Parts: sequence; structure tokens; C-alpha cells
Amino acid sequence: MAGEPQEDCLFCKIAEGHVPATVVRETDTTVAFRDINPQAPIHILVIPKAHYRNAAELAAAAPQLAADVLRDAGEVAAEEKLESYRIVFNTGAGAGQTVFHAHAHLLGGRGMQWPPG
Ligand code: 5GP
Ligand code: ZN
Repeated sequence: MAGEPQEDCLFCKIAEGHVPATVVRETDTTVAFRDINPQAPIHILVIPKAHYRNAAELAAAAPQLAADVLRDAGEVAAEEKLESYRIVFNTGAGAGQTVFHAHAHLLGGRGMQWPPG
């Protein structure tokens, strides 16, 4: 069920502390941690602790929690002293989503191309 922990979900395990991660920020409802395979000098993932498959499902079911994720991404960007950055929510395998627990990618520390690949 949406919002409930999923047994085989890597990010549920990180949220529960059962899989280690380099956590940079944690609140009652969210965790932010460094991506294991960074695509930019700063690459941090911000997740809701509750399980939703993607950003749209999260926003529809729990809008305050979606707002928490965005607020945290902005606060972490400020802590990392990023003046410019990109927040990405890959949604669906065709767009590069590999972990089906909603997460914001916070990317910064280098120039960004537009349109993205
Ligand atoms: P997606 O491809 O679903 O948008 O993003 C998943 C992200 O999770 C990828 O950028 C990938 O590098 C990252 N990732 C996958 N496994 C782990 C892990 O065990 N620890 C951390 N910190 N990041 C992970
Ligand atoms: Zn999950």
C-alpha cells in the first residue's frame, strides 16, 4: 500500500537505517543522503521516509510530504553552498528511474546542459 514500507525497497531500507548511507540531513519525514554513483560534484538524494513509487504519486497522496522533500532539497543546496543546481525526479524506467521509491536528485557543482539527455 502507498506510504507503507516495502520489503524489497532499497530506499525504505535506507530510511529505516538498515542499509548504510552517507546521510546529510534527516527530519521526522525525510532523509537526504549522497548518491553512491554521483553524476555531479554534489549529488544528493532526498527521499520521503514513507514509500511512494514516484514523485507524482507522492504529491497526490501526501502533498505536505512532497513539499517537505522540496524544502529539504533547497536547504541542503544552501548548506552545500550551491547557487545553481538542478532537482530531478526520474519517473518510469524510460526516464531512467531505477529505484521505485520517490526521490529527488539534487545535482550541482558543475554547469548543466539543457535540454537534459
Ligand atoms: P533513479 O535512477 O531511480 O532516478 O535514481 C536512483 C539513484 O540511486 C541512482 O542515482 C543510484 O546511483 C542511486 N543508488 C542506487 N543504489 C544506491 C545505494 O545503495 N546507496 C546510495 N546512496 N545510492 C544508491
Ligand atoms: Zn520504499
